[in-house]
Amino acid sequence: MNGSTQHYTDILIIGSGVAGLSAALRLAPFHQVTILSKSSLSEGASYYAQGGIAAVFDDTDSIESHVEDTLIAGAGICHRGAVEFIASNAKECVQWLIDQGVLFDTEITESGETQYHLTREGGHSHRRILHHADATGKEVETTLVDLAFAHPNIHIKERYNAVDLILSEDKAPSRILGAYVWNRKQEQVETIRAKTVILATGGAAKVYQYTTNPDISSGDGIAMAWRAGCRVANLEFNQFHPTCLFHPQARNFLLTEALRGEGAYLKRPDGSRFMPDYDEREELAPRDIVARAIDHEMKRLGADCMYLDISHKPTDFVQHHFPTIYAKLMTLGLDITKEPIPIVPAAHYTCGGVIVDHTGMTDIAHLYAIGEVSYTGLHGANRMASNSLLECLVYGWSAAENIKSTLQNIAEVPHLPEWDESRVHNSDEQVVIQHNWHELRLFMWDYMGIVRTTKRLERALRRIHLLQQEIHDYYANFRISNNLLELRNLVQVAELMVRCALARKESRGLHYTLDYPDMLENSGPTVLKPE
Ligand SMILES: Cc1cc2nc3c(=O)[nH]c(=O)nc-3n(C[C@H](O)[C@H](O)[C@H](O)COP(=O)(O)OP(=O)(O)OC[C@H]3O[C@@H](n4cnc5c(N)ncnc54)[C@H](O)[C@@H]3O)c2cc1C
Repeated sequence: MNGSTQHYTDILIIGSGVAGLSAALRLAPFHQVTILSKSSLSEGASYYAQGGIAAVFDDTDSIESHVEDTLIAGAGICHRGAVEFIASNAKECVQWLIDQGVLFDTEITESGETQYHLTREGGHSHRRILHHADATGKEVETTLVDLAFAHPNIHIKERYNAVDLILSEDKAPSRILGAYVWNRKQEQVETIRAKTVILATGGAAKVYQYTTNPDISSGDGIAMAWRAGCRVANLEFNQFHPTCLFHPQARNFLLTEALRGEGAYLKRPDGSRFMPDYDEREELAPRDIVARAIDHEMKRLGADCMYLDISHKPTDFVQHHFPTIYAKLMTLGLDITKEPIPIVPAAHYTCGGVIVDHTGMTDIAHLYAIGEVSYTGLHGANRMASNSLLECLVYGWSAAENIKSTLQNIAEVPHLPEWDESRVHNSDEQVVIQHNWHELRLFMWDYMGIVRTTKRLERALRRIHLLQQEIHDYYANFRISNNLLELRNLVQVAELMVRCALARKESRGLHYTLDYPDMLENSGPTVLKPE
């Protein structure tokens, strides 16, 4: 044993994106809460969200219409109850954000009233996206971060990686007791005992070579929950954002769907439009259709990229609606008011995750999963734009409500065994980790990408099993590091993704395979259960 530290908290929240922070702020007036963040508190997918949050704020729109649009985008396998639950709680949850001080753009109506400016994105039949120019995530995340830092009941631990969950061993079904966490500054594993744990660790898009996600999106929560015994679902549905900037000096820079919502065209290198050839909704077709069309055109023409063009719109309109994108691309010498933007698709959103109920509770008592880490049934086979921040908010609220009503009945957590490091030593072969990182992300891009085949998926699975063996040996023998922890989790999630993809004998939504190009008449979610 080494001298690791043991802490106690009533509620441990792992992750400080919009899901984790909104749950923490809802709980903090009543309970002590500890939040862990792998990086700085604000770093996560939430910070980078550009487009906005979907909610019905317009009289001509309706919750039924939001529900129907979501069901259509989800290609027939959304859980209707979850979709209705989220859409009908959307307005109150967005209002809560406004009450916390989040500023959304407004406009003056013809009758002189001030109202929220709503944009429209792919799949939505109405304008229903509240936004803060083109940097909505930054506005929401920084407001919630400031409130969390200022709250006396919220204890923040930055640069701490949750390693694994700790469960009771005596009783079945098991109960959550806390987590082992890696203190990155002191390079030691500590034990956090907690009556309740919320996983709010975000998605797993970093499993792919090209992604719009920040480095933290390594699927840690999905892997930890799986190892703890939770079921997962729908991990074959990885959303590829159609329009990521293609530029040697800018990795991961996303070009919001709102550009297409406000009239931008997708074009081939020769300047001709191609979306009318693929879908009657043209540039506003759902993301999977647009991403596949771009992928197809690139492969057909042997082109490195396609183009997104908004230069036909007035200059002041573009600068006013997309100030961040305009400024960023100007620094790269690209004036979007005058020329088209080179783009490629990139992994963007993990639709599947840890199975939860309406309160965000997983299969393990008092272990919750909220936000992108979870599978609620909202997204089905394809996420509709701007529904994910909404899902974070609604489940942040519903998990907090459930915890408030159950916490006093949960038995005390006993003292827990310390992390055992007695048999490991420092690695002198970090290069193995780096190599495996690159290998995994590259073959996932090639074999489990936008267009799949059974042969390629089987090839991916064989490689994953080899990597798992190597990483297992490495993990058992060497002291942990951030890269090792993330790689171990990513390989686990990659295995679950490929197994889900192999189990689906059809093409639906984001899962497209040449071996089963048609959609089955009856289908449902892909559920995997640990043995
Ligand atoms: C570029 C971009 C643009 C987007 N635009 C939109 C949009 O306009 N509208 C919309 O609805 N959605 C959008 N999305 C999706 C949306 O931003 C995410 O789905 C959502 O923010 C996820 O929030 P989250 O709280 O679940 O996770 P994140 O915001 O990703 O936060 C995860 C947190 O978990 C922590 N963490 C992870 N693993 C560990 C660990 N092992 N130990 C400790 N901490 C850990 C991280 O440090 C981080 O704090 C966008 C995503 C991207 C990448």
